[in-house]
Amino acid sequence: MTDYKVIVAGAGPAGLAAAALLAKEGIATALVAPAAAEDPRTVALMQPSIQLLRYLDIWPGNLEAHTAPLKKLRIIDDTGSLLAAPNLEFESEELNLEAFGWNIPLGLLLPALRKRAEALGVTFIETTATGARTGGDAIHVTLSNMSEISASLCLAADGANSAMRKAAGIATDTWSYDQIAIATSFTHSMGHDNVSTEYHKAAGPFTTVPLPESHSSLVWMERPARAEALMAMSEGELAAEIQIETHGELGLISNLGPRKSFPMKGLTARQFAKDRVILIGEAAHVVPPIGAQGLNMSLRDAALAADLILASKDAGSDSLMAEYNALRRAEVLPRQQLIDLMNKSLLLGLLPLEGARALGLSALHYVGPLKRFIMEHGLQPKRNLPYAMRVS
Ligand SMILES: Cc1cc2nc3c(=O)[nH]c(=O)nc-3n(C[C@H](O)[C@H](O)[C@H](O)COP(=O)(O)OP(=O)(O)OC[C@H]3O[C@@H](n4cnc5c(N)ncnc54)[C@H](O)[C@@H]3O)c2cc1C
Repeated sequence: MTDYKVIVAGAGPAGLAAAALLAKEGIATALVAPAAAEDPRTVALMQPSIQLLRYLDIWPGNLEAHTAPLKKLRIIDDTGSLLAAPNLEFESEELNLEAFGWNIPLGLLLPALRKRAEALGVTFIETTATGARTGGDAIHVTLSNMSEISASLCLAADGANSAMRKAAGIATDTWSYDQIAIATSFTHSMGHDNVSTEYHKAAGPFTTVPLPESHSSLVWMERPARAEALMAMSEGELAAEIQIETHGELGLISNLGPRKSFPMKGLTARQFAKDRVILIGEAAHVVPPIGAQGLNMSLRDAALAADLILASKDAGSDSLMAEYNALRRAEVLPRQQLIDLMNKSLLLGLLPLEGARALGLSALHYVGPLKRFIMEHGLQPKRNLPYAMRVS
């Protein structure tokens, strides 16, 4: 007899969503994590992720008033390269959608998920998970005070440095980019028309994402020395820099929000599940913030894990581990490779790579069916969606 059916380690968006999904189906779930830190980021969540929030009864709730719909996505080649790519525009109307998704402040999404998970009966244990061992039909997770709790399965949602991944003996491939991403938000004098723009610059993408009225969030990827200089600037100085980088398209920039920097890394776990531990979110895969893929993939991890757990007698069985591993790797790995290639084609400044990027984006620009394929599969994947992302 175990204490819980599932232990989730980590209270980021992936862990909270997974715990809430399981508790909604009556699964005895404990969530182990330290208190959450402040995070000024917003996350662009596509329709399947929004559907998951709807399924959990937290969308629209009091989130929608603080978000903006993403009706149009633009990719602008701002590299100054000899082999510039044509500008690309994707409109949600082309897919008969109200919007591709919504841009939600993490500072609101995390408390909403937590409140819902608590209401659904998740047991919160405010500490870190330090280790795990399997024995019989159970996994025993060690907490920082050296006590142990047991379950059939542990969902490791404890981020890129996952202690649970290490405890399961899962190795990773990691790499870093010569870039730092700065996340902040700002007010602008001209409207954004619900358009998100990814300016592809020589140091990486500079992406504005709409928030309500005349506000936008920004993810600015830069070389480390320049990023450090930007982080040290006064509000007025940074606003002026943002105005230059946006070419005045949003008018005058003011009223900057808090900023935070993130060194850019990549990580792929060599297995996504092993020995009664399933990796979800950044414990399994880390990608640079390009094309809003990170959390959207993480929520699909959480929802698929919930589906498999519900359908199985032993939530930690080898067959469940194998199925999760195969299904998630088939989706995550190609996406990671594409994001990596896109980022490196900007960073390395090598003509053959720039040529390949220009060719790829030109094909998307000129070949209608290819563009539609990317919109449907890259932005709005419909095939093999987990239950919580499908039901209405
Ligand atoms: C600048 C930036 C912008 C982004 N924008 C987008 C976007 O627009 N759209 C999108 O889809 N994705 C975006 N992403 C990616 C997205 O933020 C991540 O995919 C997401 O935050 C990962 O969530 P997570 O729950 O896996 O991990 P985390 O958010 O890292 O959460 C991990 C949790 O585990 C806890 N923890 C750590 N160690 C332990 C332990 N030993 N025991 C218990 N708990 C532990 C931590 O306290 C934390 O609560 C962006 C990323 C960056 C850097």
